[in-house]
Amino acid sequence: MLIGAHIHGDDPISDASEVGAECIQMFVGPPQSWRKPPPRSDADRLKSSSLPIYVHAPYPVNVASPNNRIRIPSRKILGGTIERAEEIGAAGLIVHAGHAEDGIHRGFMRWRKVFEEIESPVPILIENTAGGTNAMGRYVDDLARLWEQINDFEVGFCFDTCHAHAAGEDLADVVDRVLAVVGKIDLVHANDSRDAPGTGADRHANFAVGQMNEDDIVDMVRASKSSAIICETPWPGIADDIAYLRKSLS
Ligand SMILES: [Zn+2]
Repeated sequence: MLIGAHIHGDDPISDASEVGAECIQMFVGPPQSWRKPPPRSDADRLKSSSLPIYVHAPYPVNVASPNNRIRIPSRKILGGTIERAEEIGAAGLIVHAGHAEDGIHRGFMRWRKVFEEIESPVPILIENTAGGTNAMGRYVDDLARLWEQINDFEVGFCFDTCHAHAAGEDLADVVDRVLAVVGKIDLVHANDSRDAPGTGADRHANFAVGQMNEDDIVDMVRASKSSAIICETPWPGIADDIAYLRKSLS
């Protein structure tokens, strides 16, 4: 089990060693932008590094949106992000499940269209999300309905502990229920939360200060049987989160 960090800085490899990360996650362009990420000058260096690298899609992406002016650019920027992710030898591309304001049943077909249109050399991992109405991936029951529609494609899954807490899922068995739906968890986002359970708020916290029980986080990570774990917690304190997980899981 490799334990690492989401890196925001310009030099991902040295930032990783600074906090003891054995794998990393990063954005390949500005996280709030709709524009195709520009080529990275460090692409060759990242590709030849032994560090497994996961790429997070930009935040505005919502492939399940009923709005053409969001859905179509979302697919487009996903394609552009995949191109850059391939150039750095990424192990996976994480995309939030998104939401369909006109009803989640309508979002399933829009997700199908993504896999029909985009042939990605980089595995696409759909991530559970924290809150909102008509969210495709807030509750395990909805993920089950989504997976029924897309499981004939190669689809991976990323499980976020903070999002499951924010969704109000029962943390004691949520990972088992997720595994029953998706088959395999390819990546875990191990995060604590600044907020109470079930609030839908997506505000990550370091393990020492968040409102979640640290044992619950460790138990979920262990139950996931995932080979890679990424902490997306605030940078000051992330080295302690990584060390805590490593110690607890050894
Ligand atoms: Zn996450």
